[in-house]
Amino acid sequence: MKCDKCSASAILFQRYSGLHLCTSHFISDVEKKIKREVRKEKIEGTLAIALSGGKDSAVTLSVLNDLLSRRGVDMIAISVDEGITGYRERALESAATLVAELGIRWEVASFEQYFGVRIDQVNERPCTVCGILRRSLLNRLAKAVGASALATGHNLDDEAQTVQMNYLRGDIDRLLRLDHPAKEGLVRRVKPLKYVPEKEVALYAILKGIPINLDECRFSAGVFRAEVRDMLNDLELRHPGTKYSLVRGLGRILQLTTRSPFELGQCTRCKEPAVRTFCQSCEVLEKLRSTDLDRTI
Ligand SMILES: [Zn+2]
Ligand SMILES: [Zn+2]
Repeated sequence: MKCDKCSASAILFQRYSGLHLCTSHFISDVEKKIKREVRKEKIEGTLAIALSGGKDSAVTLSVLNDLLSRRGVDMIAISVDEGITGYRERALESAATLVAELGIRWEVASFEQYFGVRIDQVNERPCTVCGILRRSLLNRLAKAVGASALATGHNLDDEAQTVQMNYLRGDIDRLLRLDHPAKEGLVRRVKPLKYVPEKEVALYAILKGIPINLDECRFSAGVFRAEVRDMLNDLELRHPGTKYSLVRGLGRILQLTTRSPFELGQCTRCKEPAVRTFCQSCEVLEKLRSTDLDRTI
């Protein structure tokens, strides 16, 4: 099969666009989608990039470095060590290789040093706890390095799942918080891979030879997310473009939302942004200290 844009052989058929693409047209298609997102965000000054060592964050860092370092944006990769023995060490090795290749400043911080907790010790819903603590620590690190924005590696599949999960739960407050402008104490989030499907992120990383860690974390991301993922994959197969429509649809709703979707106060304990009296990470840590922590590990 030939590429629809040149005479080279196609390596991929994009069902949602109806296009067969060769290696170089596939690469420029991915980069075009990332550029479009980045341009919309008007990034200046210092940009922090959350780097886990997996394919999504590695591709984000690599492409943003090509796009922005020439424009005088100061890039700093930030990584979180959650305390997951085996998995995290290998992922951080991939991250170290990438930042050395690109010559980018890199900061690593651990849950242990900030919160006195390792995810290995958490018995109940470790993945949820990890997500809450990671978001909080990334925000603190981004502020500490003086970043005006924090880029994360969320791809189209991640975004579509999150949007759909919030619709199905009827959690409109959380839905509106997904794409928020900068708030007091909360560094603006940008998601350059928001319109790149997960499979294309992986293919891009392989074709470009970007060092990535392919291990899966041994803690599962929750039954509901897995069900929504399967449902969306099934719909996408029969109705190509479904995931795009979901994510674009939310963008449109946010444009039409005139009132500020949420108010933020300060956590009375740690002074980080909070919707309630305590921020989510302090709530979760309080619960862990009182009940869940496995102290034998
Ligand atoms: Zn081509
Ligand atoms: Zn707090």
